[in-house]
Order: sequence, then structure tokens, then C-alpha cells
Amino acid sequence: MKKKQPVGSRKKLPITSEHSRVAGPRYVLWEVSRACPIGCQDCRHSSLPPGAPGDLSTEQAVKLLDNVSAAYKTRIHFTGPEPLVRPDLFDLAEYARQRGLDVVLCTNAVAYDAKVARKLVEVRVKEVQISLDGASGRSHDSFRRTQNGFVQAIKGLDLVRLSGVRFSLSATLTKQNVEELPKMLNLSRKLGAQMLTLFFNVPAGRGRAIAGDPLDDATYMQWLNWIFEQQFLYRYPIQVVCSPQFERLYRERAGELPDELNPLRQGQENLLPRFGCLAAKEFCFIAADGTVYPCPYLLEPAGNALETSFAELWQKSVPFDTLRDTHHLGGKCGICKFADFCSGCRAVARATTGDYMAADPACEYQPV
Ligand code: SF4
Ligand code: SF4
Repeated sequence: MKKKQPVGSRKKLPITSEHSRVAGPRYVLWEVSRACPIGCQDCRHSSLPPGAPGDLSTEQAVKLLDNVSAAYKTRIHFTGPEPLVRPDLFDLAEYARQRGLDVVLCTNAVAYDAKVARKLVEVRVKEVQISLDGASGRSHDSFRRTQNGFVQAIKGLDLVRLSGVRFSLSATLTKQNVEELPKMLNLSRKLGAQMLTLFFNVPAGRGRAIAGDPLDDATYMQWLNWIFEQQFLYRYPIQVVCSPQFERLYRERAGELPDELNPLRQGQENLLPRFGCLAAKEFCFIAADGTVYPCPYLLEPAGNALETSFAELWQKSVPFDTLRDTHHLGGKCGICKFADFCSGCRAVARATTGDYMAADPACEYQPV
């Protein structure tokens, strides 16, 4: 029989089916709007102009927050294309906080002014995550095919920093901008961001529309190795999301870490950071119409949070249940010793084969 996990140590525990089901998501990505004032040509969200129909009304949004918070007191990331297009955004953020949810704002920051900065403080937003896809106007604006986006984002970021609210940077990486990564890391350090979050674009679901080609396997692994060194050997917080193979790389290179930083040497494997596919295990995505999905790139609907209890969707829906159980994995992922931690990108598996539990075709590892 499985040992019962101690209450209160949720983030440190290994990802297991039962634990994820009971503890609930560590965070929820909620697309509060599908609109964006910039409309970058290659927007991966297929953004709409501000005021376009399709977003939840304030009453519906409140109902959704009631549903999520009644199930789990978790972190909720307000995303969009750009959340700030909602006139009721800060009312919703305040409401979420009152309901026991920690609010993180994911934004391009271009529409920030002193009033917005004041509001962030007033409603006690936990963190602002600002997306930059290059370290200069030339690279960022060329990647997004927009004009002045970089300058505006840096202005917005300065306001957030002056307000004292914790902020981090995030970047989406493809072949087109990956060489900028060292400069982005320097910029992140220089600006005082708490963390740099990196996302190697997934050519599936909402990632299909984004600029640039995916990296070839060898280049991808080279960059993951570089990130490992920056993050663990030189100690700057970098979060790598949706690169499940980083989990394998971490385990293979953990021996290079000093003893005090190596949970494997301390016999504390449950303290290892988690990098594998976290869809339905640590997070999920709620789209602008309230539909709940495992992640924005794996659009397998669990149901709608305006109609069904969020706890039920998280705990009992077919895609969530299936994803949590690694016994359902097929191909080489099904026999891989890293499957419990990595499990491969399910969105890429689905986009390539039609079966979201098939082997991740982007993985170069051959289980023995
Ligand atoms: S399926 Fe998993 S690894 Fe792939 S994009 Fe979604 S959360 Fe990330
Ligand atoms: S075979 Fe699958 S589970 Fe194993 S490392 Fe590759 S993607 Fe991860």
C-alpha cells in the first residue's frame, strides 16, 4: 500500500496519479480574454481585437472563480493574449484574492501606466510575468512582427518594478530567436527579474501559429544543457516549462551538483524540481469560454467550468485521468524508466500521431 503523503508538503512530493488528483493543481492558467491591443502577426493565441465577443461576462467570470476556489486554494495565472484588455480585470483579481487564490498576471506589459501599477499593489497581485521574446527591440519586434513592442514592454516593466511587485520574464523560443538566449538571461538579471521562464515552442495546439521552426533535436538538447549549467551550476533561477526531456537531463547530470544542492545524494528525491509534462498533474488551462483543458497545447476538453464542478473536472474527467496514469503511455515512453517524471510532451504526441498517449516523437532517448 502507498504511504500516505504528509499534508502541507504538496510541492515537494513526486508527481503521482493519486497525489495530483487529491492535491489539485499547483496553478491554473486562465485565459481571461482572447483579445490583445497589439495583435502581433504571429500571435499563438490567434488574438482578437479588444471588444470582440467571446470572453466571459463579469458574472460568469465570478462564477468560474467561485468554482475553482471552492475546489482548491491555488495559484491562478490570468493570461490572455493580454489580460489587461478586460475593464474588470482588477475587480476579478481582487475577488480571486478574497476567495483565497494567489493571482499572477501574465502580460506583454505594453499598456502599463502609473494607474495600472497602483492597481497591482492595491489588489495584491502576487507576481507579474512579462513576456519578451528577444533581448533588444530588433530581435523582439522581429520575432513578433510588431513595432515598438520591446520599448513599450520595458517601460511597462519599469513601472512594475517601481511598484515593488514581484516580476519575472518569460520567453518563447524557436529556431529564430534561441541564439538570443544568453542575452535574454543577462537582460533578466540586469532588470532584476526574480526568474526567467523559458518555453521551447510546442508545434501543437496554440503553438502552431507561432513564428519560426522548431529546433532540431541535437540543438534543443545543447540548449537544455546550457540552461542546466546556468540554472544549477551558476545559480540563476530559470524555469523550463514544457521541455519534459529536461527532467531526464537533470537526473543524468545531477551528480555534477555540489552535495548540498543535490537531492539525489541526500536521499531526498522528493525535493527534486519537476520539469516533466505537468498537464493534469500540476496545472491545467481554462480557455476564454470556460472550457477546461490539460494545457493550452493539448486541447482535449474535460468539460466547462461554468457547468461542472472544477474538482470533478480535475479529479474525474477522462483526459485528466488518462494523463495522470503513466500506464497508459505507449511506444517507447511506455517502457521508459523516466516516464513517471518526464512522460514526454503529450501535445506533440497527439499532433503527430493523433494519440496523446503515444510516444513523444521529439525525444531522442532510446529506453533500454
Ligand atoms: S502536453 Fe505537457 S509538455 Fe506538452 S505543452 Fe502541454 S504541458 Fe507542456
Ligand atoms: S522516451 Fe518518453 S518518457 Fe522517456 S525520456 Fe523520452 S519522452 Fe521522456
